[in-house]
Amino acid sequence: MTARRSPSLAQGVVRVETVANLRRAVGVWRADGHRVGLVPTMGALHAGHLALVEEARRRCPRVVVSVFVNPAQFAPAEDFDEYPRDEAGDMAKLAALGVDLVFAPGRDEIYPAGFATTVTVAGAGAGLCAATRPHFFAGVATVVTKLLVQCLPDVAVFGEKDYQQLVVVRRLARDLDIPVEIVGVPTVREADGLAMSSRNAYLTPDERRIAGGLNVLLADVAGRVARGEAASGALAWGRQRLAGMGFDSIDYLELRDAETLEPVERATRPARVLAAVRIGGARLIDNRPVAPVVEAAG
Ligand code: AMP
Repeated sequence: MTARRSPSLAQGVVRVETVANLRRAVGVWRADGHRVGLVPTMGALHAGHLALVEEARRRCPRVVVSVFVNPAQFAPAEDFDEYPRDEAGDMAKLAALGVDLVFAPGRDEIYPAGFATTVTVAGAGAGLCAATRPHFFAGVATVVTKLLVQCLPDVAVFGEKDYQQLVVVRRLARDLDIPVEIVGVPTVREADGLAMSSRNAYLTPDERRIAGGLNVLLADVAGRVARGEAASGALAWGRQRLAGMGFDSIDYLELRDAETLEPVERATRPARVLAAVRIGGARLIDNRPVAPVVEAAG
């Protein structure tokens, strides 16, 4: 894939394919004293992505959205080739939101010949999604590190929908002293509560109906824990319910500390109920917050 030599203007949004052109644009904004927000995406944009863009816009007068389907976070048997792509639709949506620049690098721009460096995040990057997708967080952490260093934004915005990813990104930014504020945005949902996802396009109508039950189940489990029930009991109840709902398999249903993702038995601090399930050709993930249980006095 050849990188364009100069930025192109499509529907009012500047689109660049090279790190050099991204840096040039950001450098001009910085010289003018503007704060810069970055929203990394894999495209096929929906209202969830657009909520991140709006948050970036609220915080920064200049907003960059990156669109890159990152091969490093897909295992060989996963859906890299089928992953939905809609460049024209994405550009129109981003233009409507007044995004300043879209960074759409080719594969070779991100992973040039001889590329040999991987960022791995221990702790938060282990377990949960990493248990069944061991390649995933190294792929995410490496590309996010590169995007942060390439753009050097003041703020980078991520969705709580991918909660473990958000915690991993916060960790790597802190650990590598990348001078950026990582901002999380609550999950945007369909009318029945299903978390919006580019991969929901894989669901048949029957699967789509079943998928809508996942967020309800998570809210029920979160409610039990918030009322003081121990995680072991609430999760066992939840796993049994999930098994009867029509999903093909359950990767995990867990209660974790909201900041560290360590397992917790009682929500004495902010916690999250997190799940991943499989149905048809889709793997769905979702999570719900659990407010800390207030111990009764005396
Ligand atoms: P993706 O294109 O799936 O890699 O997602 C790009 C960013 O959008 C990530 O920070 C995701 O967490 C976020 N995102 C995806 N779906 C949603 C959603 N339904 N609500 C909020 N953020 C989302």
